[in-house]
Amino acid sequence: MLREKLERLRSELSSRISAIKELEELEKIRVQFLGKKGVITMLMRSMNELPAAEKPLLGKLLNEVKQSAASEIEEKKIELQEQLRQRQQEAERIDVTLPGKVFNPGRRHPITLVMEEIEEIFGCMGFQIGEGPDVELDYYNFEALNMPEEHPARDMQDSFYIDKEILLRTHTSPVQIRTMEKMAPELPVRIIAPGKVYRRDDDITHSPMFHQVEGLVVDRGISLADLKGTLLLFAREMFGRERQIRLRPSFFPFTEPSAEVDISCIICNGQGCRTCGESGWLEILGAGMVHPRVLEVCGYDPELVSGFAFGMGVERIAMLKYGIDDIRLFYTNDLRMLRQ
Ligand SMILES: [Zn+2]
Repeated sequence: MLREKLERLRSELSSRISAIKELEELEKIRVQFLGKKGVITMLMRSMNELPAAEKPLLGKLLNEVKQSAASEIEEKKIELQEQLRQRQQEAERIDVTLPGKVFNPGRRHPITLVMEEIEEIFGCMGFQIGEGPDVELDYYNFEALNMPEEHPARDMQDSFYIDKEILLRTHTSPVQIRTMEKMAPELPVRIIAPGKVYRRDDDITHSPMFHQVEGLVVDRGISLADLKGTLLLFAREMFGRERQIRLRPSFFPFTEPSAEVDISCIICNGQGCRTCGESGWLEILGAGMVHPRVLEVCGYDPELVSGFAFGMGVERIAMLKYGIDDIRLFYTNDLRMLRQ
């Protein structure tokens, strides 16, 4: 009986060992059979209780079972260790025939590029960058800019009002007011204010959200000639050395006098073409001398100081610079357009 049991144990153990695939499993088997309280160990301890006649034979058999189990476990261990090493080598090997990873670097948006270029040009002329909130008080967006309540530009239909006193700014001009308020009566004020503005328009030349850069200079003795010289320099840096500018009389509530500023057409160089409507000129910005009342509201004495201001649509500049004819292309995230 015991003899058969031992034979069965030997063959069972042998098949279990050969089926093992992990070193941890093998160690469990070793403990289970050959450990201090293992099956074989316990059997060997119980040998003394056997009848004297059976002891030598069964003792020998049990010893054989123990030794064969020990050596099978040892062989399996070496085999599994070798497999593990091979797997690790495989994982570390570099396959030079694999195709390389394709990098897809991002690019800056055309609007960002144009904003940065504008900032750099004015930065070289000593302008600093002013900032203000997108959600603005009616006071800064309209009232302080000489646009009283009955002013047509304040029509609720044209702006995104949050409540009666708060709206999404319709231009970056409130930054001028905030800057002057903070600085007065210090001189000179020389800032540009780039940022997002919001109006209720949506067609091929208008987007409900777009970008503006406004500029403001306040100092003693600032004249229209300073305005013209600054804008001419800007036009030439932005659109080429041969650009000319012209000022046409216009009206803005916060400047007096006010002007629309044109540059000589970048396509036909002033000869007249489809882009410029045969006029030879392209309108790029609005400008003027800061209205005395605006200076006063912000804490400057219009008898002592004067200033000029200008504002341009960044999309308009980018459309001219890159020859884009639909403003919505900037915001539809079409990579074919953005990659060009
Ligand atoms: Zn033209």
